[in-house]
Amino acid sequence: MSNLKFNIKFRDNKSSARAGEIHTSHGVIRTPAFVPVGTGAVVKSVTPEEIRAANLDVFFVNTYHMLFRPGVATVKKSGGLHKFMNWSGPVMTDSGGFQAFSLSEHGPRQNRIEKTLVKISDSGITFKSAWDGSRQFLGPVESIRAQLELGADILMAFDECTFYPIIREKAITAMERTHRWARICLDLLIKKRVTEQFLYGIVQGSVFKDLRQESAEFMSHLSFDGLAIGSVANSREPREKVFAVLDWTLPYLLPTEKPIHFLGIGEIEDIFISVGKGIDSLDCVTPTRLGRMGWIFDKNAGLKNKFRYDIIKSIYTGDKRPPVKNCSCYTCSNFSRSYLNHLFRSRELLSYRLATIHNLFFFGSLMNEIREAISENRFKRLTENWLR
Ligand SMILES: [Zn+2]
Repeated sequence: MSNLKFNIKFRDNKSSARAGEIHTSHGVIRTPAFVPVGTGAVVKSVTPEEIRAANLDVFFVNTYHMLFRPGVATVKKSGGLHKFMNWSGPVMTDSGGFQAFSLSEHGPRQNRIEKTLVKISDSGITFKSAWDGSRQFLGPVESIRAQLELGADILMAFDECTFYPIIREKAITAMERTHRWARICLDLLIKKRVTEQFLYGIVQGSVFKDLRQESAEFMSHLSFDGLAIGSVANSREPREKVFAVLDWTLPYLLPTEKPIHFLGIGEIEDIFISVGKGIDSLDCVTPTRLGRMGWIFDKNAGLKNKFRYDIIKSIYTGDKRPPVKNCSCYTCSNFSRSYLNHLFRSRELLSYRLATIHNLFFFGSLMNEIREAISENRFKRLTENWLR
């Protein structure tokens, strides 16, 4: 048995929102938590200090990328991800499956050549490396071994990720494989007597209610440390389906009192909806990827604009105001919209950094606000204040 401690400290009395702490050997993750994505062992363009300054406790590293660049052995030789990145806080890794499956026949990243080179079987997925063209195999054992060697605090079980739209038969096959692989992943951790690295099981079943329920019930009965909901926000499924999946699965997951992660969710409105239904953590590239494209998160931009504006627009040329009024982040404390506008238009490297620093701070502060509201039973009021 592992040592994961998840203390739910506050429960909102008007929703299923809850606030607490996940304790890992690298420190505490305050929940609900936003988890930025550090794909290649870096949250693009920022330092560990800047992540901490944004009030963020944990970030995701993609195992798929680590397998090839720099290679799991290199990270291990450097003392694991924490030492390698000089990040002393908690780290989450995914199974590597998402990127591999996204190259498959139904994945968003397939092209004609790659499609023919991806083979999914009951033991895992064979694919062609995007870096050196070599044939690679990833299954539950390979994935967990890699994540353990990377030294992550929270690992994801290897699952078959699906993409919308999908026919029912394929969703069933993927779910059944995911369930078999879940047991293999768990058994490996038990066999290796791992106690300080925690494993989350992933619920699959695509957009089919009965499959999602079956998967949630199955996962809730296994001895995972936490649970995650996968394959929802990764393709073009209708928005209402995304949250229907939560309504179908959470009645099985919440009673376990284990931390629940929603994979790939990161729009502001979606964070409020998910947290209100009981989600404890979510990850997304939203603040970082959009930041590098010139999008600055700002509550004043409003729900209609998804709380962001495009700093590259010509109206910001010569605008002496800070990027966001009353924001105390490093970027807003020191630079103007005009300067950011200039940096982006000149494709200066500093533009990416400054926008990312602000956007991460925005998400970190939002989660702080949410946690505080839950602890004072005013999460509903906070939600209405943002989403009205
Ligand atoms: Zn700011």
